[in-house]
Amino acid sequence: MEPSRTFTFLGCGTSVGVPMLGCACPVCKSANPKNHRTRSSVLIRAPGGTILVDSTPEVRLQLVREDVRLVHAVLYTHYHVDHLFGLDDLRLFPMYLNAPLPVYCDAGTEGVIRTAFAYAFQESTADLPPGWLPKMEFRRIDETPFEVLGERVTPIPLRHGRFETLGFRVARVAYCTDVSGIPDRSWPLLEELDVLILGALRPGKPHPSHFSIEQAVEVFDRVRPRQGYITHTSHNVEYEAVSRSLPANVALAYDGLSFRF
Ligand SMILES: [Zn+2]
Ligand SMILES: [Zn+2]
Ligand SMILES: [Zn+2]
Repeated sequence: MEPSRTFTFLGCGTSVGVPMLGCACPVCKSANPKNHRTRSSVLIRAPGGTILVDSTPEVRLQLVREDVRLVHAVLYTHYHVDHLFGLDDLRLFPMYLNAPLPVYCDAGTEGVIRTAFAYAFQESTADLPPGWLPKMEFRRIDETPFEVLGERVTPIPLRHGRFETLGFRVARVAYCTDVSGIPDRSWPLLEELDVLILGALRPGKPHPSHFSIEQAVEVFDRVRPRQGYITHTSHNVEYEAVSRSLPANVALAYDGLSFRF
């Protein structure tokens, strides 16, 4: 069967992005575009529409770069600023759709959105026409599988330091960014994957909220997906050097990397 969906890395950088402000290290100054990482987010183009996972501070630039003209639904992994604060830039989509944008998130993320974007929840008026506010409709999710635009999505609970995040699995592809541990109940959700994407910050020194590259490789060894990708990486990751150190079925993601599934 022909794969019907496309998965695209809109961004694969850690929270400060790469190049990092104030840094002149060889990675931040690298001429290789694969060493330049906007904040982590992915896009799934499915037959039923386009699903955005997280809205980074660079979401506008990411969607323009990939020529994405319409987003039909947004999923949130968690509410950290690097995953959420581009939300206002999505406000044109409800206008194009002539309906509020469906936002799939857990209770904690909805609470932060309602506080941080309180202005979005006022009524449109003559001096506040549609398109000026990011009109949203919340679809509450927890650990139960749900459907978006005809796609069955399985949430994967993940540890992220003292926080919890959700990974998302669609068919045989799982996206697990911002992760420092996999709870017992989540391992069965990672079985029989073609592609597993894991967040990992850097080689070497472990971080309280993120896997190191080595810790991610241990997970790939246990899960054995056909292809593993590493995302959410810092300026400690030089694309060519770290790529050479990875097992044959694991690669670093880079902005714009796409595959069909
Ligand atoms: Zn993050
Ligand atoms: Zn740097
Ligand atoms: Zn985070």
